Amino acid sequence: MSLLTVRDLRVVIGGRHILHDVDLDVPAHGVTALLGRNGAGKTTTVRAILGLVPRTGSVLLDGTETTALSTHALVRRGIGYAPEDRGVFAALTVTENLRLAERPGAGPPDYDTVYELFPELLRRGRQSAGTLSGGQQQMVAIARTLLNGNRLIIADEPTKGLSPKVVAEVAHALERAAGAVPVLLVEQNLALVRRLAGTCVVLADGRTVHRGPAPDLLSDPEATRRLLGVGRRQTPAGTSSPGAGRPDAGEER
Ligand code: ADP
Ligand code: MG
Repeated sequence: MSLLTVRDLRVVIGGRHILHDVDLDVPAHGVTALLGRNGAGKTTTVRAILGLVPRTGSVLLDGTETTALSTHALVRRGIGYAPEDRGVFAALTVTENLRLAERPGAGPPDYDTVYELFPELLRRGRQSAGTLSGGQQQMVAIARTLLNGNRLIIADEPTKGLSPKVVAEVAHALERAAGAVPVLLVEQNLALVRRLAGTCVVLADGRTVHRGPAPDLLSDPEATRRLLGVGRRQTPAGTSSPGAGRPDAGEER
């Protein structure tokens, strides 16, 4: 059975239908990638799962319906969230950011795991988070999800805007985290998806358009191009040119 089962998820904001029909499953192990071009509805799906936007449909966590629960109740049930904007408190130190994430009733916070994965956060404990690099802020965001013995981690584009070296560090941390806790990963970096994800879900225009093993999709250039907009395409001169490895790259929008 899946850890998270989403069926027929719909979101309407200000009269606009953002999600029409999203289905996805997050298995109890490893990384599940949530893919799709910009504006496909990935962030809205994550926010709907967490009850941050009004939604209808079904979201089962370990077989229990959660759509009637508030966000804080969902968080108490063990969903850790690293949002797209990272959500660190810039004026607080690294240590203060982590302490604010401690959840009463979740048992002792697991600083051992956090500092083993991110020794830099220990060294920079007294630095204000606003002066960290993007990669370091991302580490704070992921570290917060690891403190409380969560059952599921949701990370929304954790490598967006990071340099290749820092992407590698964040990827390593996610890989380690996923060894202990299943991860739903929104990610545009397909090399990273290839390395980390077992299964994937692709959204387009607020709908699930593909579900299956991630390696199967990524080893199929035609499907990757059709669903994600990357890969080789014909140029006007009739020669083919490689995409840049991110959806939307090389595609007119
Ligand atoms: P993704 O994360 O896949 O890039 P989003 O879920 O952020 O996509 O957005 C999906 C679509 O919904 C986009 O067209 C976006 O403009 C729209 N959208 C997202 N949030 C809101 C909102 N609060 N109000 C109106 N439109 C929104
Ligand atoms: Mg998004």
